[in-house]
Amino acid sequence: MRHFTSKGGELFAENVALSAIADKVGTPVYVYSAATFARHYDVFAKGFEGTDALIAYSVKANSNLAILTLLGKRGAGADVVSGGELTRALRAGISPSKIVFSGVGKTRDEMRLALSAGIYQFNVESAAELDALSKTATDMKLRAPIAFRVNPDVAAGGHEKISTGKKENKFGIAWDDAPSLYARAASLPGIKIQGVDVHIGSQITQLDPYARTIEKIGGLIKSLRAGGHTIETFDLGGGLGIPYGDGGQQPPPPADYAAMVLSATKDLDVRLLFEPGRMIAGNSGVLLSRVIYTKPGETRNFLIVDAAMNDLIRPALYGAYHDVEPVLSSGEAQTVSYDIVGPICESGDTFAVQRDLPKLAADDLVVFHSAGAYGAVQASQYNTRPLVPEVLVSGSDYAIIRKRPDYDTMLSSESIPKFISR
Ligand SMILES: *Cc1c(COP(=O)(O)O)cnc(C)c1O
Repeated sequence: MRHFTSKGGELFAENVALSAIADKVGTPVYVYSAATFARHYDVFAKGFEGTDALIAYSVKANSNLAILTLLGKRGAGADVVSGGELTRALRAGISPSKIVFSGVGKTRDEMRLALSAGIYQFNVESAAELDALSKTATDMKLRAPIAFRVNPDVAAGGHEKISTGKKENKFGIAWDDAPSLYARAASLPGIKIQGVDVHIGSQITQLDPYARTIEKIGGLIKSLRAGGHTIETFDLGGGLGIPYGDGGQQPPPPADYAAMVLSATKDLDVRLLFEPGRMIAGNSGVLLSRVIYTKPGETRNFLIVDAAMNDLIRPALYGAYHDVEPVLSSGEAQTVSYDIVGPICESGDTFAVQRDLPKLAADDLVVFHSAGAYGAVQASQYNTRPLVPEVLVSGSDYAIIRKRPDYDTMLSSESIPKFISR
């Protein structure tokens, strides 16, 4: 069931008309469906029902406190990549026993924060990080539970900026270094080895890269155990793709993913960990925007909307496709091929090129679909545009879960030093 659907020619989020939100909250604004978030999490979790799998939602996909709270209540843990994300997850009531900490550049301060919270697992990505973690934990008279993020050298993911499991990526430890690094970890006083971790990329639309990864890691787990290490967890990371409506490759249903993973890991005797982000958040939200002007150009028709690349950077950053849909279907039969652009002074501020839409006019509302993941979290205030707000809909209710700052608030963290005269 989809939760962003048209009723009587008007687009709704669950039972709330998007035009009502635009009128009350203004645009641009992200609008999320609580039911869709819940359903996506539940569909993923159902695949692993009856196992002790930990589903650690990847906080960086959409880190709003309300979203984390919603998912945490359904049983989700959290995969965090910074002290800030860790603080969010804890504040949302997610138990430290369900939190894993990923990322290549954890600082000592972040390690201390995570150690004192008592998180479940650090996913360690280098020898230097391992040493720093051991030292930090020892100083605190603790042992840090770790898995190494191993780079399986498997190609996956639709875009070079989101493919992470190949040799040339900055992520993880090299395959060949795994035996020596596990041996080193075993010798350190502040470290407790507990597992193996991978994360091979994002927007993965086939099962095959996962299957090859599991086969390789399965072999590694056996050889590590033969070498005397205790391996209890296997973290398969995130990366499962979603449909973006561009006619591209369809991702496998989560149930198929789960069935494949369970079958491929059944003899490994490990606790499975997952870090899904996009799969849960991506199609749970839209970016709602209003047309400011239409501008017929010499060769192009521009649709200038009030959302911009600072609100949703995926098209500019990854060449990402987002389905665009008018909120009101005017019954207008004439379609126009639009270049949809924002107000920012950059040519890259382009959401779509030569997109066929019904003819639109100033003040019309449009949505960018599939914007729930890597949307609001990557927003900035470039061009001194207020940070885009977020609204969560549940049934016929909705609430602002991040408010739009006014200009005074935006400028209040800046100051003019005395040595600059005015
Ligand atoms: C980004 C990230 C994820 C989530 O990836 P999705 O493609 O959103 O599922 C999971 N684990 C790690 C380590 C990540 O960096």
